[in-house]
Amino acid sequence: DRSALAARVHGLLRDVPDFPQPGVLFKDFSPLLADADAFSALVADVAAHWDGRVDLVAGIEARGFVLGAAVAHALGRGFVPVRKAGKLPPPVRSVSYDLEYGSATLEVATTAFAAGDRVLVLDDVLATGGTAAAACELVERGGARVTAVEVVLELGFLRGRDALPGREVRALLTS
Ligand code: AMP
Repeated sequence: DRSALAARVHGLLRDVPDFPQPGVLFKDFSPLLADADAFSALVADVAAHWDGRVDLVAGIEARGFVLGAAVAHALGRGFVPVRKAGKLPPPVRSVSYDLEYGSATLEVATTAFAAGDRVLVLDDVLATGGTAAAACELVERGGARVTAVEVVLELGFLRGRDALPGREVRALLTS
C-alpha cells in the first residue's frame, strides 16, 4: 500500500547536509532510482493515480525528467521537458522567478502543449514552490491546463503549497 511505499522510498533518500550550499539538507534520489523494485513501485503508484486524467507529463529538470519520463511511459502519454534557461532550442516560452538569493528561469518549447491539454507537472522535491509555480505558468501560457503538481517529497516547513494556490498538490512523503 501507499504507506509501505512511502516508508520504502523514505529509506532510499539520502540526506546530504550543506549541499549544494551551507544550510541546505539535500535529498539525494540516486539510491531510489537505482533500486529497481522501489523505482518501479513509485512510478506505478503515480501512474495509477493519474491514469485517464492527463494527456501529457511535464517533468522539471533534472530529476523530474527521470521520474516524469518513466511515469509518462507507464501512462502511455507523452513527456515534455521543462528546462533551465538556455538549454532548449527556440522557440521557447520563459518564466523567471525569485530564489532566496537571485532568480532562476525555466523554459518550455512553445509548441509543447496544445490548448486544453491536461498536464501533470512532476518533480522530485517541492521546497518553496517557486519552481513548480513557474512550471505551471509555462503550461498555462500555452492554453493547456495543469491537472496537478506531483512530487515525491514535500518539504512542508517551506510552505511550497502557498506558492501554488488553488492547485492540487500530491506528495508521497512530507517532511
Ligand atoms: P523550490 O522552487 O524551492 O520549490 O525548489 C524545488 C526545486 O529545487 C526542485 O526542482 C528540487 O529538485 C530542488 N530542491 C530544492 N530543495 C531541495 C532539497 N532539499 N533536496 C533536493 N532538491 C531540492
